[in-house]
Amino acid sequence: MGIEVTNISKNFKDFKALNDVNLKINTGELVALLGPSGSGKTTLLRIIAGLENPDEGNISFDGEDLTDKKAQDRNVGFVFQHYALFKHMTVFENVAFGLKVRSRKYRPSKSEISQKVSELLELVKMRELADRYPSQLSGGQRQRIALARALAVEPRVLLLDEPFGALDAKVRKDLRRWLRKLHDDMPITSIFVTHDQEEAMDVADRIVILNGGKIEQIGTPEEVYENPENPFVYNFLGNVN
Ligand code: ADP
Repeated sequence: MGIEVTNISKNFKDFKALNDVNLKINTGELVALLGPSGSGKTTLLRIIAGLENPDEGNISFDGEDLTDKKAQDRNVGFVFQHYALFKHMTVFENVAFGLKVRSRKYRPSKSEISQKVSELLELVKMRELADRYPSQLSGGQRQRIALARALAVEPRVLLLDEPFGALDAKVRKDLRRWLRKLHDDMPITSIFVTHDQEEAMDVADRIVILNGGKIEQIGTPEEVYENPENPFVYNFLGNVN
């Protein structure tokens, strides 16, 4: 059970952004996609999310083939580097919006929304700031709201594209610890894109190293660092550290 990426290829004109990528992620895992700029990390994430169609290959969740399903029918939560919060909505309304778009079939009552938003804000430690607008929040606080909104859909998979990239070091560390704890406390599967090796090392159960649209190595942080499988991985990890 989990996410299965099978023989995924994606071209942009003549450029092979992904070249026959295969990957299995178990339910509950927190996986980091690591690799140089342009290696295909975001493209892979977007294909798993359903925001981009692959030219070849399949994506399945828990054995269900989702390759032809739209993003909104995949039950994924998505967090981008630049918090895409609605400026004219309060913190409460931003998170409530996440609940309302959850499903065409699911129509929560006002009190259910209020209860659920409170729980989500509690989870990201933002309850006191419910009435603020995004412009009144720090970067870290905005990203907490983006996380709460992504979790509002009760996603089976949480996909994060450089989620903490724009934040300062201390806030980055706090939020990645929070993400780790969320995994330890809740049954959720997450994939996050990062170019920060320390971040990947610190929180991921497994690291996927991409290069030129191909996976070079998959393993736990210890496996990848202690036993790089090829010269690329060795140099990539060694040069930056
Ligand atoms: P990464 O996230 O590892 O930096 P990306 O997945 O964003 O890499 O991009 C991989 C390659 O595909 C890059 O060379 C990028 O320029 C190219 N690419 C990504 N999206 C598009 C697009 N929509 N149109 C054309 N080229 C793209």
